[in-house]
Amino acid sequence: MEFMPFKDKLLEVLDYELLRSGNKKTPALYPAFFSVLGIKACVYCNAQLTISAEKFDQSVSALFQLDHSIDKASYPCFAISFFNLYPVCASCNNNKGKKSILFRLYSNNPNKLMASEYQFIFDKASIAEFRLTKDYSQIKFTFDDKGHGLNEHLAVQGIYRTQKDLAAEIILKAEIYNQSYKEGLQKSFSKLYGKNGISNIDFNRFILGNYLDPRDIHKRPMAKFTQDIARQLGLIP
Ligand SMILES: [Zn+2]
Repeated sequence: MEFMPFKDKLLEVLDYELLRSGNKKTPALYPAFFSVLGIKACVYCNAQLTISAEKFDQSVSALFQLDHSIDKASYPCFAISFFNLYPVCASCNNNKGKKSILFRLYSNNPNKLMASEYQFIFDKASIAEFRLTKDYSQIKFTFDDKGHGLNEHLAVQGIYRTQKDLAAEIILKAEIYNQSYKEGLQKSFSKLYGKNGISNIDFNRFILGNYLDPRDIHKRPMAKFTQDIARQLGLIP
């Protein structure tokens, strides 16, 4: 008589496969959950979309993978806990495996929910050099992952070294959108938006092309990288 490993039996009892992938009668639960949370970018690298998209036949395809922050092979009892499931891109999930990433997506402090502690720090001399030469390959930065393992295990700094052209665009924006130009633009926006005008947050988001609040970085890829350089340059408050 052959026994199913306890771990597999536990996952079967918890209906893990059905919750994750659904079937013809029951749609998968997790894609709807992350959609409600507003998470659309990999919570580790913030460089890839993690969304659910409707296909031509109206079925829904989840374009992300679920990482078990506490790995499910060792702790199958946490396999279906929402607080243990992180929507991530395939690259991060494959690279992570059973390695431990200390970043915590969820928090019992509502003010800290989904905020990021890690930070991109741009080298001021290299920004000055770029302003002179317009050669964006000269832009230098470091990614301080606060010891979470994002650099060591997921090569996050390496991912963003391919995105120096995006950093260059923000540097140019910071030059163009000086205070007087911003004030003039905001007045012209008021004409479009009526007597209430446009809020400072919406206006700055328009300029940045991404979300401003550190708690919103999971709503759009590249938000953290974009916010950090824009804030360092004074483009956004
Ligand atoms: Zn990723």
